[in-house]
Amino acid sequence: MRIARFVIDDEIDFGVVHDDEVEPINGHPFGEFISSGVRLPLDSVRLLAPVIPSKIVAVGRNYADHAAELGNDVPAEPLLFLKPSTAIVGPGESIVIPTGAGEVHHEGELAVVIGHLTRRVSVDKALDYVLGYTAANDVTARDQQRSDGQWTRAKGHDTFCPLGPYLATNVNPSHLAISVTVNGDVRQSGNTEDLIHDVAHLISYISHTMTLLPGDVILTGTPAGVGPIVAGDDVTVTIDGIGSLTNPVRSDG
Ligand code: ZN
Repeated sequence: MRIARFVIDDEIDFGVVHDDEVEPINGHPFGEFISSGVRLPLDSVRLLAPVIPSKIVAVGRNYADHAAELGNDVPAEPLLFLKPSTAIVGPGESIVIPTGAGEVHHEGELAVVIGHLTRRVSVDKALDYVLGYTAANDVTARDQQRSDGQWTRAKGHDTFCPLGPYLATNVNPSHLAISVTVNGDVRQSGNTEDLIHDVAHLISYISHTMTLLPGDVILTGTPAGVGPIVAGDDVTVTIDGIGSLTNPVRSDG
């Protein structure tokens, strides 16, 4: 099942996507819901990011080829950082290059959306706590990441976390092709089977540090091929079974 969050007639709704239509639901996807039976054309609604989490927990250097391209070793344990929920934008919304950022990169990533309160879960049980998966772009001001020595500013700017287009509830997170194009040219092409720490291990590991709440998002890391985006570009992250997340890029002001 693919779930969309969208605006229609100034109201925000969740709905189940059927090909080029969406069926609004009564209730919300984190609990019991019933389908309305109404079908709306997908192009008549404005898609939003599928969730607004309490926090985004991201993982650095989780593909060996990406760690190597920036001259880094692969960490023995997951390298965690946080992005603020205020960085989230939905499909079609602009990524804004902040004034003073010299080198802004795309990072296409599989995003995990948590469905239940998750605290100190085992690897074996971890996937039971997932509601679904979506695509993300962990946009990064690479020059600020280098100069600051830690990553809060570089990865925390408003608009630096596009999410969407849908939440897919029954994909296998171990075998998903993921690609990024900029203006149609392929920049990144990977598969989640190459994750150093897989989704179950990440959830278990993170849940032993901090409690994950329903709607919280985990960004699982990016494969090789990161590179610059500039005003006027269109950047698209595509993941098997989830869809394509496209965002235009513009400068601030
Ligand atoms: Zn990343």
